[in-house]
Amino acid sequence: MTLDESYKIAKILAENGADSVQITARTISFKFGEEGNHAFLSYADSLSKELDIPLILGGTLRDMKTMNEILNKTDIEFLSLAKPFVAQQDFLLEWKENGEGVSRCKGCNNCYGKKESKCFQFG
Ligand code: SF4
Repeated sequence: MTLDESYKIAKILAENGADSVQITARTISFKFGEEGNHAFLSYADSLSKELDIPLILGGTLRDMKTMNEILNKTDIEFLSLAKPFVAQQDFLLEWKENGEGVSRCKGCNNCYGKKESKCFQFG
């Protein structure tokens, strides 16, 4: 679907009782999306301004600096992560202690492709 179509569908979902809308990106999304911190960042930010329900941005978020910039500079209030937890379950404890951090995940997509919650790079 086009971005315009997805925008209309998100609004219809919100008007009909959805609790939140999540937009996620894969590494390949950067071929078709925006340059910069996230392939769909400005789209997600503009959609979050229009919706009365939370927008959750996920996909390719692997470092604390980028995530803080998104939270501080946009209307997006929620982020979702999956592969960083597959690569290292307790990474948030380290980030909290250090005040910064970058996920070990290299985005190889082996866990995603094989549908396993196991990191094929770090065990
Ligand atoms: S298998 Fe690859 S994509 Fe999955 S968590 Fe490990 S490094 Fe990341």
